Amino acid sequence: MADDLFLKIINREIPADIVYETDEILAFRDISPKAPVHILIIPKEHIKTINDLEAGHAEMIGKLFLAAAEIAAKEGIAENGYRVVMNCNQHGGQAVYHIHLHLLGGRQMGWPPG
Ligand code: 5GP
Repeated sequence: MADDLFLKIINREIPADIVYETDEILAFRDISPKAPVHILIIPKEHIKTINDLEAGHAEMIGKLFLAAAEIAAKEGIAENGYRVVMNCNQHGGQAVYHIHLHLLGGRQMGWPPG
């Protein structure tokens, strides 16, 4: 947990452009944006991957999506649309082992992903 980069952002040990915060959730702009709007939405609880989720996390996971919709509206991308993605482990492309929902928008997304 000591090497959890996002915990350092939660604890304000490293700076981030925070756009949303509740007792349970934090959202901030991705340092290397892959779209005009690229925001990471994370639980404050340290959970490494989707594989580590338990039944008790269900409500919090729902809140990540509610936050995504609220932030998308604030960012002005709700009507045109956007993508939310959560990567898991190596094949999923996960680099930071603290679960996070990517909110991506402001341009046309391709499908399927590469
Ligand atoms: P993953 O590949 O794990 O799904 O996504 C990790 C994301 O975290 C990447 O999009 C990467 O750009 C972002 N990221 C990595 N380090 C930092 C950081 O220090 N600050 C912020 N704001 N984003 C970061």
